Amino acid sequence: TSKSRGKNQITTFDHKIEEAIIRRLKLEDALIHAIENEEFHLVYQPKINIKTNKFIGMEALLRWNQKELGFISPGEFIPIAEETGKIYRIGDWVMRKAFAEWSNWVEAGNKPICLAINISPLQFSRDEFLPNLKSIIEASKMDPNFVELEITESSSINYESKMIEKLYETKKLGVHISLDDFGTGYSSFGHLKELPVDVLKIDRSFLNGLQSNKNNEAILRSMIQLGHNLNLKVLMEGVETIEDVKWLEAETCDYVQGFYYSRPKLLSELYDWSPK
Ligand code: C2E
Ligand code: MG
Ligand code: MG
Ligand code: MG
Repeated sequence: TSKSRGKNQITTFDHKIEEAIIRRLKLEDALIHAIENEEFHLVYQPKINIKTNKFIGMEALLRWNQKELGFISPGEFIPIAEETGKIYRIGDWVMRKAFAEWSNWVEAGNKPICLAINISPLQFSRDEFLPNLKSIIEASKMDPNFVELEITESSSINYESKMIEKLYETKKLGVHISLDDFGTGYSSFGHLKELPVDVLKIDRSFLNGLQSNKNNEAILRSMIQLGHNLNLKVLMEGVETIEDVKWLEAETCDYVQGFYYSRPKLLSELYDWSPK
């Protein structure tokens, strides 16, 4: 009967909520031990200069392989790390690990190229951020001129003058800054001109339907021009097809990154890599 079906649906619904809560609690708990248990590692995705077709940099992306739960995506665990305050220690771990792997890269005879790491706006906002970054750079063989910080656009970065000040302080170390996922959420074109960033990283959602929708083309073209008018370099993330590459090249986008060129890989797998 419809009545019993309704009851079943409610049970399924409750069950789903219960499962989600249990998973969340498990992840929170597992995250506490993830560093000690050596469950994290980094993979790297190449960045390519579209004009010269050269491998010019790479982005470190965090991977978590949990002993019992298996692979958990950063899209799921980074927000939990942020909400539970674990992001600070994890963020420091990422910096240490990435800088160490970069030194190995150079010592193995590879050309030094820019190494980008993702920084949560929460992590960046913290008073300890700059002193930590400085001391981690000093303790490593990392050349700060090859460090790039990818900071997601967020309200705090855009609006607080204290944060803009801090971006300037960060840049004094020699590091570069890119605005990640540009165009999603908190865009404030008015404040963009005040931000001392080097690169606009346009969110990959803007590539969706590029081939089928003229409005998408117009928006993406405007974003590239906006970046250039502000004297910034523009990188397009999530490039998956040769058609995208051709379109972006014609529109004078500076850099590209995406599965078309390479999926994120272990750094050792990129030692002899070059774009197709
Ligand atoms: P993001 O920084 O915008 O990174 C780009 C994401 O797009 C990565 O997902 C990457 O694997 C994926 N991607 C790259 N090329 C393509 C493509 O051609 N097609 C598609 N469909 N996807 C592509 P991932 O590694 O799952 O990371 C997701 C997000 O998690 C990152 O977005 C970043 O915000 C965050 N994240 C990853 N590692 C770290 C980290 O070490 N620290 C912090 N704070 N956040 C991180
Ligand atoms: Mg990024
Ligand atoms: Mg991004
Ligand atoms: Mg993204």
